[in-house]
Parts: sequence; C-alpha cells; structure tokens
Amino acid sequence: NFELSRKNKEISPSLTLAITAKAKKMKADGIDVVSFGAGEPDFNTPEHIRAAAIDTMAKGLTGYTAASGLPNLKMAICDKLKNDNNLDYSSENIVVSNGAKHSLFNALQAICNPGDEVIISVPYWVSYPELVKLADAKPVFVETSEEEGFKYTKESLLRVINKNTKAIILNSPNNPTGTVYTENELKEIAEIAVKHNIFIISDEIYEKLIYDGKHKSIASLGDDIKKLTIVINGMSKAYAMTGWRIGYLAADKEIISIINNIQSHATSNPNTIAQYASIAALKGDQKPIYKMIEAFVERRNYMVEKINSIDGLSCRMPEGAFYVMVNISKIIGKTFNGFTINSSMDFAEYLLENVNVAVIPGIAFGADNYIRLSYATSLENIQEGLKRIEKAIQ
Ligand code: PLP
Repeated sequence: NFELSRKNKEISPSLTLAITAKAKKMKADGIDVVSFGAGEPDFNTPEHIRAAAIDTMAKGLTGYTAASGLPNLKMAICDKLKNDNNLDYSSENIVVSNGAKHSLFNALQAICNPGDEVIISVPYWVSYPELVKLADAKPVFVETSEEEGFKYTKESLLRVINKNTKAIILNSPNNPTGTVYTENELKEIAEIAVKHNIFIISDEIYEKLIYDGKHKSIASLGDDIKKLTIVINGMSKAYAMTGWRIGYLAADKEIISIINNIQSHATSNPNTIAQYASIAALKGDQKPIYKMIEAFVERRNYMVEKINSIDGLSCRMPEGAFYVMVNISKIIGKTFNGFTINSSMDFAEYLLENVNVAVIPGIAFGADNYIRLSYATSLENIQEGLKRIEKAIQ
C-alpha cells in the first residue's frame, strides 16, 4: 500500500501528442492521413551540422562536458545573443540544456516557491502550465483576443498582478498563435515587470521564423528588464534540430548558479556530440534558415488565404512560427454528416475520422473555439488537407 507523488499525479498528459499518435497509427495502418499536427520543421538538419556531429564522433570527443555546457558553445551563444539580439552576456550567464523545454523547466525551478503565481497568456503552449505546476507554483491565465492579436495588454496584466506574482511567460513568436510582439508592446510589458519586480521568462525559440516584423528580445530594452529576464532559446526550430535536444538560457548569474546546481544533479551535461554540432550551427552558414523561411512564407500565405475563403472558418495572419489558429466558433453547434460538433475536440475527431485530416484541437491550448494547423508540411499536403476540410464542412 503506497501513495505516489500527489504533485506529479496532477500533471496532465499532452493532448497534442494524443491526437498525433492516433494519426500516426492510422497512417501506419495504410490510411492516407494529412497531418497538420507537426510541431517541428519538415526539413532535415543542414548537412554541415550533421557533418560536424560525425566529425566529433570520429575525433572521439564523446565524454562528459561541464554540466552546464561546453565553454566554446557558451561563447558561440554569447556571440549569437550579441549579434542577433544586442545582448551582452558572458559565459557565466549561460546554461545549455536538453532542449528549450528543459531550459524552461530549470528556469521555473530556480525562481519559484510554493504560493508563487506565474502568468501565462491564453492560448498557451501546452507545456507552460504543467512546467509551472512542477515548480510548485500556480499558473495564472490571461485571456487574449484574436482582435488584439492574441497579445497581453497592459490592462490584462495589471488585472492579475498581485504580491504573489513571480513571473510572466512571454512567447514571441508565439506557439500556437504565430503572434509577434512589437517593440512598443514589449516596452509596456517591461515597464510593468520592472515596476512590480516580476521576472520575465522570454521564450524566443521561434525567433528566426518571422515573416512580418522583426524579433526583439525584451531583455534588450534596458538593464533593469535584462536583470529580470530569463531568455530561453535553442537549436530545435531555427536549425531543424528538434531531435538533437539542445536549448539554452541566459540570465543573471545568481539564477544561473542555482540552475547549474539543479542540472548537475538532474541530467549532467546535454549530449556532447549535439553540443559540438550546435557550435557548427551557430557559427556556420545561416543560409539554410533563409531557405526554410521562404518555404514557410509561401505556405503561410496560401493557408491563410484559403482558410479565410472557406465558409465557417477564419484566421488572422500570423507573423511568425509555423502555426495558424483557425477560428471555428461558427462550426461549434453545427451537425455535419450526422456528427454534431460541440467542441474543438469533436471537430478534430470529426476531421480525422471523416476526411483523415489531423489537426490539434484548441482546447489543448486553452482555446476551445480554435484548432491549430501547422504549416511545417509540404504545400501539396496543405492544399490537399484544406480541400478535405472544406469538403467536410460543406
Ligand atoms: N517553447 C515553445 C513555445 C515550443 O513550441 C517548443 C517546442 O515545441 C519549445 C519551447 C521546446 O523546444 P525544444 O525542442 O528546444 O525543447
């Protein structure tokens, strides 16, 4: 007779994984499924990065590194933060981890105490609330509206900030909405954070995937906000390196010192070979990123135009990442082919079972009037998938 961890029993399984697993199984059974579920670029890791990994192994550089990451990789990250984001950090401000998700986990573990509140905008990336709960803190949700670009506003933040507020999670470009904050909007958030002494966890993992506007790191807006910001980034999305599991964070030294200790006991260093490959990614030819961007722009433009031409569906033009949040509020309550749609989950199931199209129900992101479509899939797939969706709701 034993009791398992009460805290960890409360952690939800990933809904996005559930539906993509079902789609994968259908595919394996020979069914022609079109999937809009992808959360990773449909490109291979560039050749020179893969070659660097092979070279690392050939040289026998296969042992442990410092738990917080290779000094040379930290230097390459500092150069990147300086050149791309105008941020001055030294190696003592950096921890390299097993993906940006792990960096987020470490960041929350380092700053949260029981009773602390962490603000998350809705729709949110599925892992944020669970990562906050794992750090014994409480997620506080701020609803955003499509009309306001799915963004925090000054008012919406001030409404929930109180003495327990420890941090705001900011994700620009955003998953699932594709929203990119402007510099002025970031300034407003920074002012609030500085005034109320609140940390910003700035998840910039999609920074390179911006098609309108320009990425700005909130940490670069001044010394006060830089001290309060934990910048999260990684290799997964920019370099099509999702499976390599390298992410990093930059923060004040006091925070870094706690994270170093956590990581030294929890995982030790992230994979050594992937770390060497990441140096090649950051220092090498950046052209593959531009090729990827070109493809994403074309697909995004097609997808948005097509969705807005389908009766019952609509979406805003996302500025970045590779997702479109499709508004399905006109579909909710309707019946198609004897199947009544009462929720985003119903709609996702209907599409999968009726026309073999996999989408992510918005409820996974706390937004039941939406589904998320990823355009990290070929233009042909997008055309075919949208044709099927159109047919399904005629
Ligand atoms: N943050 C956001 C918003 C993401 O969408 C993802 C991946 O889907 C991550 C972080 C995690 O990326 P990584 O592969 O570096 O752990």
